[in-house]
Amino acid sequence: MDIQQQITKLRDELNEHNYNYYVLDQPTVSDYDFDMKLKELQTLEDAHPEFADAFSPTQRVGGAITKNFETVVHDYRMYSLDNSYSKEDLLDWETRVKKMIDGEVQYVCELKYDGASISLTYENGTLLKAITRGDGVQGDDVTANIKTIRSVPLRLKGDYPPRFDIRGEIVLPFEGFMKMNEERIEMGEEPYRNPRNTASGSLKLQDSAEVARRPLECLLYNITGNNLNLSTQFESLEKARAWGFKVPDAATLANSTSEVLEFIDYWNVHRHDLPYETDGVVVKVNDLHQQEELGYTSKSPRWAIAYKFKAEQVSTLLNEITYQVGRTGAITPVANLEPVELAGTTVKRASLHNADQIEKLDIREGDTVFVEKGGEIIPKIIAVDLSKRPADSQPTHYIKHCPECGTELVRTEGEAQHYCPNYNGCQPQIIGRIQHFISRKAMDIEGLGGETVALLVKENLISDYSDLYTLKKEEVINLERMAEKSTDNLINGIEVSKKVPFERVLFALGIRFVGETVARKLATHYKSIDKLALATTMDLVTVDEIGTRIAESVVAFFKSEENQNMIDRLKNHGVQLEISAEKLANQTNKLDGSTFVVSGVFESVSRDELKKMITDNGGKVSSSISKKTSYVIAGNNMGPSKRTKAEQLEIPIITEYDFKTLLS
Ligand code: AMP
Ligand code: ZN
Repeated sequence: MDIQQQITKLRDELNEHNYNYYVLDQPTVSDYDFDMKLKELQTLEDAHPEFADAFSPTQRVGGAITKNFETVVHDYRMYSLDNSYSKEDLLDWETRVKKMIDGEVQYVCELKYDGASISLTYENGTLLKAITRGDGVQGDDVTANIKTIRSVPLRLKGDYPPRFDIRGEIVLPFEGFMKMNEERIEMGEEPYRNPRNTASGSLKLQDSAEVARRPLECLLYNITGNNLNLSTQFESLEKARAWGFKVPDAATLANSTSEVLEFIDYWNVHRHDLPYETDGVVVKVNDLHQQEELGYTSKSPRWAIAYKFKAEQVSTLLNEITYQVGRTGAITPVANLEPVELAGTTVKRASLHNADQIEKLDIREGDTVFVEKGGEIIPKIIAVDLSKRPADSQPTHYIKHCPECGTELVRTEGEAQHYCPNYNGCQPQIIGRIQHFISRKAMDIEGLGGETVALLVKENLISDYSDLYTLKKEEVINLERMAEKSTDNLINGIEVSKKVPFERVLFALGIRFVGETVARKLATHYKSIDKLALATTMDLVTVDEIGTRIAESVVAFFKSEENQNMIDRLKNHGVQLEISAEKLANQTNKLDGSTFVVSGVFESVSRDELKKMITDNGGKVSSSISKKTSYVIAGNNMGPSKRTKAEQLEIPIITEYDFKTLLS
């Protein structure tokens, strides 16, 4: 077997395993064997770039960075659905359908998956593009991110049509969602609120490798296109399944509204056994000719209707309100409830969000409250049952002092949350900050986890993150659950983190409002921590996308003597507090204030490289031409409409070579 055959064989095998695992939920090899095969393929592909293939299973790990998602017009509009909430609504809909159709009408009942809608276009059996719903007419091209989702086939099987769109929903199953949140809590980050928002947020992440790490799934429900040779919706679902798509098998044919209602009643209860969130049922006319006859209103198809499940509610006793202190000092009030069954789980706690929420609903200890579980994992209190309020009930007095350190709380104008201002002395804040410092996107310290950090702080071995760098093996090895090997790993992980680039160190410092993106901006602009520390609010707000809120927080951080000392210590330990010389060579502020539109195909660089060169040098990339555009960089086959627009607005059109001259 020659190399190419070997590569093809591995790809086929891995595709089949992927399909068994992610589409059929029936793995046929161990994770270990799968990983080994994938590594083998990766090695072969690396050694033989001539056999590269954008649809190879190795492409699932992501890596492409999208700074600006391109807006794309859907070939076929993505409609929304009319909603119904009762049997009467459904009967009304059936009457409207029957008025327009002669003869029998059969329906398909499907579950309504609660996630982010997506339209996938396949051409000659491979994934061409994946577009978000957007406003239904046009959406964002998120192909690079969607390719990382294992249940999305990159190549189809069987007798698929040459070109079609297939629509579905990207969901984040509960299990994976909870795991993601556990990791976040461990790292001292706020947990995500619900799977739906997390799924749709994931589609717009710039780093596709991050998307690849999220356990997203794609569930399909509609095929659209020309000359598809399909006659019913039910057949479409079966065909999609045969071509390799994940199509849940709950879909059922029904001959009348009463059969539809049976389906609804069944799933209203059993949906809690599903691994992902559903928020209703979608009823569709099965016959595609009849669908065509019925057509569309301006917003939705007349041949389909959604039936929304009612959010489940129970009432229970609120025993006590307690307060949690987060990494930033933010206080979160928590309702401790008399345990109660709700939507298939036992609920003991509910979030109360903030003081305003408690006041608005007049929630008191000893009250009987109504608890609802919608898309959120953490249930919420929606009302108080006043008829059950005890006679001696007292209004809730929100705490005035930190439950952890006793410091008086503050609340800034316009902010919902109370804060404990004892930045350097409040234990959950100290622990939270160090947990943030070591987290994956920050210093990524291998061998050190959130619980160990808490232990180190409690044992007085460290009191801020700079202390990590003076930790001694003798000190660590005596901790609970630490052995020789894990101690070595920890010490080594800390040592290695001295190489982490400045922009991530800056993020790791945990300055309020300085997230990953802002940290990158500031690092590129100021180049070193010393220059940044000298910046005034006025300087800072001149940096692109930095507002006064961020600027003031940065200034306050560097004003603190404790922080200054801590940074000196980090510096002495050899942590990267300025941009490396190598990076500096490729990064400038030359394009500050300029906005570029990139169009066409280029000879000397890829589109993505070109975009990166622009942003690395302080410029902005935009997807559409406007008065604000400084230059259009045109490659071969630039879109004619873009050209006309640029000429109309008198925006200079330059080549990739002109651009490089501009930079040098
Ligand atoms: P809405 O957003 O409430 O107008 O509901 C319409 C959305 O429901 C569509 O855009 C789809 O993303 C989603 N949906 C989920 N499951 C289905 C399904 N089985 N059939 C059609 N649409 C569905
Ligand atoms: Zn405190």
